[in-house]
Order: sequence, then C-alpha cells, then structure tokens
Amino acid sequence: MALMQERPQDGTPPAQTAPAAPCLELDGLAKSFGRGRRQVRVLENVSLTVGQGEFVSLIGPSGSGKSTILHLIGGLLPPDAGAIRMEGREVTGRKGLISYMPQSAALFPWRTIEDNAVLAREVAGLPRAESLALAREWLAKVGLAGYERAYPHMLSGGMQQRAAFVRALLSPQEFLCLDEPFGALDALTRQDMQQWLLALWEANRRSVLFITHSIEEALLLSDRVYLLSGKPTRVLRELRVPFGRPRAEDVADDPRFLELKREIYEEMKREQARQETAAREAAPPAGRFGFRR
Ligand code: ADP
Ligand code: MG
Repeated sequence: MALMQERPQDGTPPAQTAPAAPCLELDGLAKSFGRGRRQVRVLENVSLTVGQGEFVSLIGPSGSGKSTILHLIGGLLPPDAGAIRMEGREVTGRKGLISYMPQSAALFPWRTIEDNAVLAREVAGLPRAESLALAREWLAKVGLAGYERAYPHMLSGGMQQRAAFVRALLSPQEFLCLDEPFGALDALTRQDMQQWLLALWEANRRSVLFITHSIEEALLLSDRVYLLSGKPTRVLRELRVPFGRPRAEDVADDPRFLELKREIYEEMKREQARQETAAREAAPPAGRFGFRR
C-alpha cells in the first residue's frame, strides 16, 4: 500500500485547465492569547501556501508561534482574523483534515505503541488487521521492532517521537504537518531519520508543512522555506531551495547550500537583534526602584 499520495506517472496534464489551487493556503492569519494588559500578540499577519506534493518548511525563533500556526490549521484553535483554505475551499476551524505530528509525542499512555500508531486509521474506520500490519512494518523501519506491544512509558523520548512520527505517516489524510519531528533525537539518529524521510517523500510525494529550528534540515528536505519573524509574527522571507530531486546525499557540501545557510542564519540573527532592541525600548525606564543598572 502506498503511504504517499499516488500521482500519474505518464506526465498527462489534468483534465481541467484552471491552475490547481494550493493544497494549503494561509491568508492573513492573526492570533493573540489573553486579554487586556496580559494580551500577547503572537501571529500578526501570516500568509503562505503549500502546493500539491510540495515540501515546505517554516523556520522561526522559539516562541514565534510555529506550533500555534499548526493548531490553527488543525482546527484546534480559531484564528482572530484570516482564513485557511485547502484546495481552494475554506476550512477555517475544521478538524480532521490533516495528518499532524505534534511537537510533544502525545501518545496515549493506555494504548500500546502499535495501537497508538493505528489510531488515526481506526478513527477513519479503516480495517484493523491491515492497519496493524502496516504499523508493524513501519515501526520496524524506524527501529522500533520488538516494541509494538510496549506502552509509551517504556520507551525513551526519542523512541516515543519516532512512534508519533509513524502514527502521523499512517494517517489517511493527504496533507502532513510535522512539528519539529526530530527535535528530541540525537544528531546521528536525526541524520538517519532525515535521509529516511527524504527518500520516503521523494518516492511518492505528499504535501508537507514541516516545522524546524534547523536551517540545514530545512534546506536538505524542502522545496521552499518560509522564514518567520519574532512575535508578533509575520513572514520575513520566502525562498525556493535551488536543489533538484532526488536530492543528493552530499548536497550539504554544495557551496550554494553553505551560502544559503549563511544567508538565512544572518537574517535570523538580524531579526533577533531587532527583537531585542524592541524589547529594550518597550521596557519602562529604570527608576529609583528599577532593576537596570
Ligand atoms: P513556537 O512553536 O514557535 O515555539 P508557540 O506557538 O508554541 O511557539 O507559542 C507562541 C507564543 O504563544 C508563546 O509566547 C506561547 O507562550 C503563547 N501561547 C501558545 N499557546 C498558548 C495558549 N493556549 N495560551 C496562551 N498562550 C499561548
Ligand atoms: Mg513549537
């Protein structure tokens, strides 16, 4: 069974002539938390798209609202303003349309690893025997053979994250949102998982929105990358990753890769400096009872 979306292989153009709507479109999303003086403006005006079969990454400072964006897409929270469209249809506030791997593994403690892995398929009413067979196959691929019947507390944080990753992959929805899926893994396992995800995705493309802290990871995996500002967050820059598919394993040694990585790093540093200046200017002047020296 193909986990990734099937696409015509013979290059036949689709019957309709209108350009296909993006798989996902965020249009001017805004979101604040709290009220009055306690209010925190997190998202100011976030607009972006993910095309059909495209792999798009979001890079932004910690606390810039990346996870919040995924909560809005998943319909877990309503936006204050803006719209979310999938394939041209407004879906703002609707649940169950995306396959989502949250930043924390969020496995159900009372379910075994394999029962966690098949959860989304169970909800969709797919046959259990087939789902379990798939789960066992994929758990083995991420190094969790032998843990199918274990409970989440018996696994390390990294292993739980891999199990959550399998659960997201096995979900029947076409659109996949991954929130820093490799964050808790050690460097070597992380590299293995990146290569594995890359091969998996290239074999049978699915539309992906991928959140990461790592500039290198974003450049390695993505077709396009959006850089986010700090709070209140907007898109600072969008860039197309100029490397073809399948992506060479040593692409990270390409001088253009290093140049892009440096450019993004500089931009993020400038943004951080802007944030720090804004925070200093917003702070009350140090008076008799101030703590600033
Ligand atoms: P990121 O994933 O980029 O690190 P988050 O989306 O987790 O950022 O959080 C962005 C900001 O929104 C943070 O300041 C966080 O404290 C705040 N925030 C997120 N969710 C809530 C919530 N449910 N209630 C109040 N504040 C929240
Ligand atoms: Mg987050």
